[in-house]
Amino acid sequence: MKVVVVGAGIVGLATAYALVKRGAEVVVVGDRAPGSGASSNNAGWVVPSLAGPVPAPGIVWKTMRSMLRPDGPVFVRPSLAPSFLRFMWGMLRACNAETYARSWAATAALGQGTMEALDAWAADGMAFEMHTGGDLEAFLDREEFDAAVAGLDRSRQAGFDPRVLTGDEARALMPQLSDAVVGAVYFPHERRVRPASVVAGLVTRLRSLGVAFVDGAVTGGGRGADGRPQVSGAFGEIGADAVVIAAGAWSGQVARLFGSRLPIRPGKGFSVDYVPGQFAGDVMLMLAEAHCVMTPFDGTTRVTGMMGFGGLEERVSPSRVRAIRQAPSRYLRTWDPEAPSLPPSAGLRPMTPDGNAVIGRLAPRQDVYVASGHAMLGLTLAPRTGQELADMILDGGTPELLRPFSPARFGA
Ligand SMILES: Cc1cc2nc3c(=O)[nH]c(=O)nc-3n(C[C@H](O)[C@H](O)[C@H](O)COP(=O)(O)OP(=O)(O)OC[C@H]3O[C@@H](n4cnc5c(N)ncnc54)[C@H](O)[C@@H]3O)c2cc1C
Repeated sequence: MKVVVVGAGIVGLATAYALVKRGAEVVVVGDRAPGSGASSNNAGWVVPSLAGPVPAPGIVWKTMRSMLRPDGPVFVRPSLAPSFLRFMWGMLRACNAETYARSWAATAALGQGTMEALDAWAADGMAFEMHTGGDLEAFLDREEFDAAVAGLDRSRQAGFDPRVLTGDEARALMPQLSDAVVGAVYFPHERRVRPASVVAGLVTRLRSLGVAFVDGAVTGGGRGADGRPQVSGAFGEIGADAVVIAAGAWSGQVARLFGSRLPIRPGKGFSVDYVPGQFAGDVMLMLAEAHCVMTPFDGTTRVTGMMGFGGLEERVSPSRVRAIRQAPSRYLRTWDPEAPSLPPSAGLRPMTPDGNAVIGRLAPRQDVYVASGHAMLGLTLAPRTGQELADMILDGGTPELLRPFSPARFGA
């Protein structure tokens, strides 16, 4: 079977890998260097335990408060475009306990087996930077901490192993933490990978397995004279037995070429890389109230944050980046926001109104599939998304795990 994958981000590449390993002929079409944007500029957290979708009970007030500040962690560029209004209304409606619980459970289930999949990638000869050591969520505010601890039962029931630490216990684990930290939650089994190294490792391995890479934007979709699906662009026409749309935040645009409406919009975030790293150790740190995360890599510390709902552009905002640079100051004993760093980068998370990914067959076209909408967890969920979608394409049917992610819930 021949499959064309549209989009050379982490999700498209992971899907291509799963397909080619199962014997498919695969062509990846990408409109820029593989992994550009979100798939390289993310925080590198591989965290199946952080399965919570963005739309959550109580999030609306927090978002509105944040929007009043030029450096707030969530910002919205309002628009009267019907697609934007429909998306925001959908998100608002998903901010209830029942939808949250359903999305959480589906995402946590898809994340099971992620570490094993990454180990299998490494064992298959892919070279990338990966570390164990877990992640620590540190709190300055007692109420926020108590609320987070109260929500951990869901995590335990799903088989994760959260450990609740007092401020002093957290400082024993991570001596850099300041006395302002009142408590923390530690997930010991989570990992981190340098995202650009994973993309590079995947591309090299895919080439060695015979996957073809085509440069160019897919601007047309349809069916060839033989009735099979095809994509087209400046590169010409490519026909296949199946097409996978894995175009990240742009997946809605590509789906429209095949007659489907997918409500996927960008959620913008930024990263700053401090070189040399200012934050050594084996544990990733989430600055809970600041909604930022810190990732120690070899020789680099990456600080990442912000969620911006706006258009499909990747400009860096100086005021938001300033806030990211400052964020660790209250959580750490010593932190120099102006220490040497690389130019900040941006990425667009593919967001959906209910916070869940969209993985499966597009209804009008039984041989056109989508793998997108992974929001804040695309790196984490890519390996298992690829495996499950490859099974769906090559075996037919719908794997049980993918049912909650069906595009049909949006009528697509
Ligand atoms: C700041 C930030 C921090 C994050 N941190 C984490 C984290 O720690 N852990 C985690 O799991 N996730 C994290 N994420 C989320 C994760 O990065 C994304 O979910 C993931 O990168 C999405 O991958 P993707 O392949 O779906 O999309 P993308 O990476 O956007 O790739 C899609 C590709 O398709 C291409 N494309 C678009 N249209 C077309 C077209 N018409 N023709 C051809 N190609 C096209 C795009 O150019 C792009 O290269 C973070 C994201 C951000 C922004």
